[in-house]
Amino acid sequence: MMKNEMYSRCTLCPRECGADRYIRKGFCGEGAIARIARAELHFWEEPCLSGRGGSGAVFFSGCSLGCGFCQNYPISAEHMGFELTDRQLADTFLRLVEMGAENIDLVTPTHFVPSIISALDMVKSRLGIPVIYNCGGYESGKTLDLLRGYVDIFLPDLKYRDSQLSLRLSKAEDYFEHCSSSLHKMLDIAGKPRYDASGKLVSGVLARHLVLPGCRKDSIELMKWLRDSFAPDELLVSLMCQFTPVYRSAELGLTRRTTTFEYNSVLKIVEEAGFDGFIQERESADSDYIPEFFDHLYFDLPNTQI
Ligand code: SF4
Repeated sequence: MMKNEMYSRCTLCPRECGADRYIRKGFCGEGAIARIARAELHFWEEPCLSGRGGSGAVFFSGCSLGCGFCQNYPISAEHMGFELTDRQLADTFLRLVEMGAENIDLVTPTHFVPSIISALDMVKSRLGIPVIYNCGGYESGKTLDLLRGYVDIFLPDLKYRDSQLSLRLSKAEDYFEHCSSSLHKMLDIAGKPRYDASGKLVSGVLARHLVLPGCRKDSIELMKWLRDSFAPDELLVSLMCQFTPVYRSAELGLTRRTTTFEYNSVLKIVEEAGFDGFIQERESADSDYIPEFFDHLYFDLPNTQI
């Protein structure tokens, strides 16, 4: 299916709004031209991703989830950002390569997959570094299939096991249904984790989970599902605790940070399961890690026109 067709009757994410994004916006709140709010080196991904040079993080505006506690809410919910043509997006990727990025890290890319593929078609062979699909885990299998040959590393969030919790916090009652099936699809596309000689991840799936305050039991159920569904060598797991109450957190009852007890009780399941992965230091759980976003094209693009 062509890019125009995908945007004119959009079913890119599990909401399957069917919106003609040339005319009106669907749940994700974005039209048919890619919009981003930041494209810079990012040093706070897991060490096997950030390496020495940093990830080349491209933050897309809008989101197909509706998380009331989103740490990036100025761009996901309030839609800060600026438009880029596919050519400009391709040049943005090249700019990050020139800056020394270890990879191209596409942050919340789901609703702009057709534009991303169009941009990668222009420059993928010249990047020379892995492309990361860094998403909320609320994915459609047919959209993921489009990414074969374009994406090397999948970096999904695994948010919830319970449908009422996902409905309340992210407006997606069917979250687990789609997240669980998409994780299998990601493994099928990217394969088991592979590293280069310096220890950087070159392909594979790294599943993240943020332990939310008061949601320990759901986190444990989710990690047990992961343990029972995947072999320890099939994917990496990163367990995070950096929740800070922002945006609509208070009205959702998320008024404090995750405790050490909550985090460790979930970590125990991950460790017993034998997954390789990463834990997060509690000291890093503060708002200093929320980057600055922009509402206009704020960088020069290299002269890379073909
Ligand atoms: S990507 Fe946006 S417009 Fe498309 S189906 Fe999902 S929410 Fe609707």
